[in-house]
Amino acid sequence: MNGRERIPAEHRSVVVVGGGPAGLAAAIAAKEHGCDDVLLVERDHILGGILNQCIHDGFGLHTFKEALSGPEYADRFIRKLRGLHIETAEGTIVLSLSPDRVLEVSTRGALRRIEADAVVLAMGCRERTRGAISIPGRRPSGVYTAGAAQNFMNLENIMVGRNVAILGSGDIGLIMARRMTLEGARVEAVFEILPYSSGLPRNIQQCLNDYNIPLFLNTTVTEILGAGRLEGIKVAQVGSDRAPICDTERFVPCDTLLLSVGLIPENELTREAGVAIDPVTSGAVVDDRFMTSVPGIFSCGNVLHVHDLVDWVSVEAAQAGAFAAEYAGSGRRTAERTISVVPGAGVRYTLPQALSGDQACTLSLRVQEPWRDRSVVVTDNGREVARKRMMRLHPAEMIRLDIAVEALSGCSSLEVSVG
Ligand SMILES: Cc1cc2nc3c(=O)[nH]c(=O)nc-3n(C[C@H](O)[C@H](O)[C@H](O)COP(=O)(O)OP(=O)(O)OC[C@H]3O[C@@H](n4cnc5c(N)ncnc54)[C@H](O)[C@@H]3O)c2cc1C
Repeated sequence: MNGRERIPAEHRSVVVVGGGPAGLAAAIAAKEHGCDDVLLVERDHILGGILNQCIHDGFGLHTFKEALSGPEYADRFIRKLRGLHIETAEGTIVLSLSPDRVLEVSTRGALRRIEADAVVLAMGCRERTRGAISIPGRRPSGVYTAGAAQNFMNLENIMVGRNVAILGSGDIGLIMARRMTLEGARVEAVFEILPYSSGLPRNIQQCLNDYNIPLFLNTTVTEILGAGRLEGIKVAQVGSDRAPICDTERFVPCDTLLLSVGLIPENELTREAGVAIDPVTSGAVVDDRFMTSVPGIFSCGNVLHVHDLVDWVSVEAAQAGAFAAEYAGSGRRTAERTISVVPGAGVRYTLPQALSGDQACTLSLRVQEPWRDRSVVVTDNGREVARKRMMRLHPAEMIRLDIAVEALSGCSSLEVSVG
């Protein structure tokens, strides 16, 4: 027995890890589905997650039919959570999680052990950094992830630069291109290595086109220059192998480079608990109850897969919370997974990866490249089970496809493809 195991364990029916939009929706749903003993743990000193730094509007168009800012969207859920008298522990970090659902948590250095009947993982994402993508060159100041710059500007009131270049056309970078322009900076350009934007089309229009900020596709940063402060970057076009084409290299003067090159789900706890991870999403493998491969451990939100809209985070997390409450209250009964779901031609990933077949379900998926006027088709050993016709399919936009329970009758292995 080590020192930590001597700490007396508390018991909770459902513990939710993370107080962003996913954790908030999961905790609320768990309580509304009959679980009176829910604890929400959040490492920050306030609830709301990353939404607290997203002060632009556009959140909640589906859920509330209103264009809310990030804090306004989070506030709707926090008020509901408080109204339901759900216990929260802010300023508290979950340090470890075992396969039998024992959590070690720390509040200002004080350790607690909590045994939970069910755990919902909702830890969100962190951003990929310069180190993660290995850009050559010097190490001057002035290179930020877009989210770090968003935090400095929106929460600390610190202007991070005046002449800005952005690498990557992910949504956070696009939002920051507009934000910095509105604060008086000159945004030279956004450079994207792919032949298409990795951000939502509405953000390309509203954040770049409306402000005459150019987007250069098939282009990447090849070198960072500057002693002390960033003085500029070299950019070059890339070929179909994404390698820079030497004679296209040019210098772009700037004092600030923002990186918007992808998000990494924060799955350290998930791995520690022995949960199977999908190599494409970098999130847990889940069934149609959002339960992972470890019974009683559920996953939702950006830690499960990176979402385009927070509305879908809330919808999926509410289901995860409801099923966690059901699991905790039912003597930990699990549903049998009878149907596997795999991505086929043109589909990068699809989720959940397994279905029980005893309830209707919604598949979430992303395509590999942009298409026009195509269908997403679900087949079971060649037999069509569901189809969704779409005018436009884009890798930046998550696609949701409903399947009725009757359609799942007799199915054993579903494949989801672009047809
Ligand atoms: C930097 C950044 C900026 C973004 N900006 C936008 C935007 O402008 N517009 C937009 O539509 N979407 C934006 N998004 C996407 C948006 O974050 C998601 O739609 C949504 O917030 C995901 O909700 P979540 O609850 O899964 O994750 P989060 O909002 O990230 O919440 C996760 C929470 O878990 C907590 N946590 C993590 N680990 C632990 C632990 N071990 N113990 C306790 N607590 C823990 C974190 O502190 C955090 O509060 C942004 C994402 C990022 C990363």
